[in-house]
Amino acid sequence: MSSTKTIGIIGGGQLGQMMAISAIYMGHKVITLDPASDCPSSRVSEVIAAPYDDVDALRQLADCCDVLTYEFENVDADGLDAVIKDGQLPQGTELLRISQNRIFEKDFLSNKAQVTVAPYKIVTSSLDLEDIDLSKNYVLKTATGGYDGHGQKVITSAEDLEEANALANSAECVLEEFVNFDLEISVIVSGNGKDVTVFPVQENIHRNNILSKTIVPARISDRLADRAKAIAVKIAEQLNLSGTLCVEMFATADDIIVNEIAPRPHNSGHYSIEACDFSQFDTHILGVLGAPLPAINLHEPAVMLNVLGQHVEAAERYVTENPSAHLHMYGKLEAKHNRKMGHVTLFSNEPDNVVEFGKGIDF
Ligand code: AMP
Repeated sequence: MSSTKTIGIIGGGQLGQMMAISAIYMGHKVITLDPASDCPSSRVSEVIAAPYDDVDALRQLADCCDVLTYEFENVDADGLDAVIKDGQLPQGTELLRISQNRIFEKDFLSNKAQVTVAPYKIVTSSLDLEDIDLSKNYVLKTATGGYDGHGQKVITSAEDLEEANALANSAECVLEEFVNFDLEISVIVSGNGKDVTVFPVQENIHRNNILSKTIVPARISDRLADRAKAIAVKIAEQLNLSGTLCVEMFATADDIIVNEIAPRPHNSGHYSIEACDFSQFDTHILGVLGAPLPAINLHEPAVMLNVLGQHVEAAERYVTENPSAHLHMYGKLEAKHNRKMGHVTLFSNEPDNVVEFGKGIDF
C-alpha cells in the first residue's frame, strides 16, 4: 500500500494552507474545499470552490480523498456525517459539535475532562440574569457563532445589564464569572488516536480581542506550566484526539483555568514552524494519518507577531531591518483592516523588547 495519501482539507485560509504545506513536505497530495478559488491554499493545493454547506461538494471531496480534516470548527457536522466513510475523518464530528457550542464545550470540559473552568451558568433568556450577584464581574457569551470577542458582553455593573439582557434574549448564552488572570496562555496538543504529543506553553497577548503576540515559553512558573500541559493532555486523552487541538487557558498566581478549545492548529502555535523541531501543522497531519508522533523540543525562546491588514508595510520594513526574523505572508489578495495577512517569528530572550506592529503606532 502506498504511504502517499490524498488529504482533503475543509477551509483554505492560512491554517489550511500551512497544513497543506506540511502534508506536501511529507509527500501527500492535498485538495481543499473553500468558497474562494483564490484562497491562500490555492497556492499549494487543488481547490474545489463551493460553500462549506454544499453537501455535493463535500461528497466530491470525500470521494477523492483518503482522509479529511478541517481548518476551522464551524463546519457543518451533519453535512459531513452524511458524506464521510468509516474512519475518513479521524477527528470525528463529535469534537466539532463540542467546540461549536459553548454549552456543550463547558459540559465536556468540566464534567467529562474534569478540568477547571470559570464558574458558569447557562442563560436561555434575560430572566436568567435577574438574580445575578453584581458584586462579581461576568462575561456573557453566546453559545454559538461568537469569535474573537464577538457575541460577548462583560458585566461589571447594573448599567451593563441592558445590553446583556438584549444579548441573552437574542440567543442561548453562557454566563461566566470574570477571571482576574495574570496571563492568557495556550497549549497545543496533537494526537494520533492512541498517543499524544504536547508543545511548550504559549503566552498570548491580544489587542482588540485579536491575537497580537505570542511568547514561548510563557512566563509562568515551571509548576504552572507543567499543570497547563497536563490539562491539555488530559483533554486530548478524553477525546482520543486525532490531529492538533489548542487549549486556551487563563493563568492566575496559582491556578490554571481553561477558557476554550479549538480542534485544529491555532494562531498561537505558528511559532512552532521555526522554533520547534516539528510544527503544529506537521503533527496535525501525522496525527490525522494515525502516524507515530514525535516528542516536541523548542529550539530557542521565540516570539510571534501577527501581521494584520494595517501592518503589512511595517512588517515588510521590519524584516528588512531584522533579516533573521521569519516573515510568513498568506497570499491574501486584499489587505483589509484587522484581517490576518501573515505573521513574523523570531528568536528572542527579551520578548518585551519585541514590539507588536500595532502597538503605539497609528496605522
Ligand atoms: P473567548 O471568545 O472565549 O476566547 O474570549 C475572548 C477574550 O475575552 C479572551 O481571550 C479573554 O481575553 C476574554 N475573556 C473571555 N472569557 C473571560 C473570562 N471568563 N474572564 C476574563 N476574561 C475573559
